[in-house]
Amino acid sequence: MIPYHIPYMPKEDVVLDAATLTAAKKYDAAAIFDAIPMYQNMASRMLLTHSAAAALEMMAMMANIQPGDEIILPAFTYVATANAFVRQGAVLRFADIEMETLNIDPQSVETLMTAKTRAIIPIHYGGIAADIRRLQKLQSTQCLLLEDAAHTLGATYDGKALGSFGDMSCISFHESKNITSAGNGGALIVKEAQAVREAEEMLYQGTDREAFMRGEISRYHWQRIGSAFEMGLAARAFLKAAIVDMSWVTEHRRALWWRYQHALEPLSKQGYLKLAKCPDTVQTNGHIFYICLESAETREMLMTYLFSKGIEARTHYEPLHLSRFGIAISGKKLVLPNTETVGKTLLRLPLYADMTTALQDEVIDALFEFFKH
Ligand SMILES: *Cc1c(COP(=O)(O)O)cnc(C)c1O
Repeated sequence: MIPYHIPYMPKEDVVLDAATLTAAKKYDAAAIFDAIPMYQNMASRMLLTHSAAAALEMMAMMANIQPGDEIILPAFTYVATANAFVRQGAVLRFADIEMETLNIDPQSVETLMTAKTRAIIPIHYGGIAADIRRLQKLQSTQCLLLEDAAHTLGATYDGKALGSFGDMSCISFHESKNITSAGNGGALIVKEAQAVREAEEMLYQGTDREAFMRGEISRYHWQRIGSAFEMGLAARAFLKAAIVDMSWVTEHRRALWWRYQHALEPLSKQGYLKLAKCPDTVQTNGHIFYICLESAETREMLMTYLFSKGIEARTHYEPLHLSRFGIAISGKKLVLPNTETVGKTLLRLPLYADMTTALQDEVIDALFEFFKH
């Protein structure tokens, strides 16, 4: 069986004993990302959270989203992007996506902007950046750009790390992502000193415990609303070990991604499937390799065929505006043609750091076999 994904395990064993957990208390994001230049030079602060969903909730709280405020997000995303803002009472405005990258379409965003728009929230699907420059142009003082950069560890736009462009952003270390903290994990990225302080307090039940731990104050106090958003100690210890291999993981996944892309080009040219387009400004981290088929039926047949060959391929997001909850909160059924087409025809192929090119060739050969008949 060639699985769709195998979570990345660090090459060094992670021993979870009392000494490791005690040491992990000191591992903030800076300690963990010390060895990674692209994150060191980011001019922002990263805080470790128990998930990207938690970081998104913090973003929605810090952006002070109030009931009735509008936010614009792609309908083709994970529910976590939406949930954090729904919880604050935001009105969701679902934008359509661009077919070439499956990212939020700036033109669709423009048509949804109103005086009540408080945030635009792109995701960078599969580690390929959304059109950040055009989205930045749509931003006004009233309206923040918040990146859901959950997919993007190791991916860049104009040579800079994704997650460093928005007013705030988040990264995920969930087991399904390129690097995991052994299950759930995430990071919040904030910019100004004031926001860092606010985020630090929110992370620890709204107290200034972080400042206390650094020895800056003698007691800590309740300063604002917060929760237990911080990453657990075992997860930090695991992430510290895994992040050491980040460059290798990224390079290997990226190489496999481009290898699929080049190998499948003939099938794309013959019109059997559509491939992603990776813009010149973007360096992908190879988080997801997908193809889009001609119809839902073809996708079903291909999935079944691959499965019979021992290959696990997966569909992806249910368009949020077509979900039961999405319709309930929109009050009507929207029509977003690109999102709907992709929702029905996208298929993700196996891709993980330890995948060999021999196994990848099996997947590629199976695809050529399928279309030959
Ligand atoms: C995985 C993912 C999340 C949630 O990440 P968690 O760390 O599992 O909370 C949010 N947004 C997108 C786009 C994701 O893919």
